[in-house]
Amino acid sequence: MAINTKKFEKLRDEMVTNQLEARGISDPFVLGAFRKVPRHLFVSEALMDQAYSDFPLPIGEHQTISQPFIVAEMTQALDLKKDDRVLEIGTGSGYQAAILAEIVYRVYTIERIHSLLVKTRRLFDRLHYHNIVTKYSDGTTGWKQESPFDAIIVTAGSPEVPQVLLNQLINGGRMIIPVGNQYAQDLIKLHKDHRGAIHRTNLGGCRFVKLIGEQGWKE
Ligand code: SAM
Repeated sequence: MAINTKKFEKLRDEMVTNQLEARGISDPFVLGAFRKVPRHLFVSEALMDQAYSDFPLPIGEHQTISQPFIVAEMTQALDLKKDDRVLEIGTGSGYQAAILAEIVYRVYTIERIHSLLVKTRRLFDRLHYHNIVTKYSDGTTGWKQESPFDAIIVTAGSPEVPQVLLNQLINGGRMIIPVGNQYAQDLIKLHKDHRGAIHRTNLGGCRFVKLIGEQGWKE
């Protein structure tokens, strides 16, 4: 299928203005990343025309690519700097990882569903995201060998904050994770200060698919 790149560029600019800036996303690096990453390539051909709409979309295996605003809100809340190394749990379509990769030095992303990861790895190669490192694993136990991370983002809903992930956060680091039951969660931001103490902020309600694993929901 021939892809009308100009049409998608226009939809992307409209998404940034109407869905992100209008709702308080103001970090220029976050907005710049959203203007650049071709979200339509992270969904199936049949859904491309809806890729820039204000809702999540299915990506197969009963999983979703999150609504653009929630991706932006979580990314902005991480207070990212260009030298940061970031861990993402829940690669899914790869869109959140690509947004992060436009902003920071390196992104480590873990996915537990092999077929999704195979497809997403191919897309990262095609789009030349050489600063994204992927792993097929249960992300609830993190990625100890590559820790500590400047920031950790969990893109699936967890019953609680896994302590093992907090342990892999550097002093001064930030983590964002949806915490709640299987139907509704709160977006929780955790800041580990320079003495290692944890400060917790509730950013409000959200709804994610389940984080399944040793430190998450049981299947
Ligand atoms: N960040 C994704 C994106 O940009 O498309 C959104 C992903 S979707 C909302 C949540 C993903 O988390 C799913 O792909 C799911 O398989 C994955 N997941 C759930 N539990 C996981 C775990 N323990 N380790 C790694 N991935 C997990």
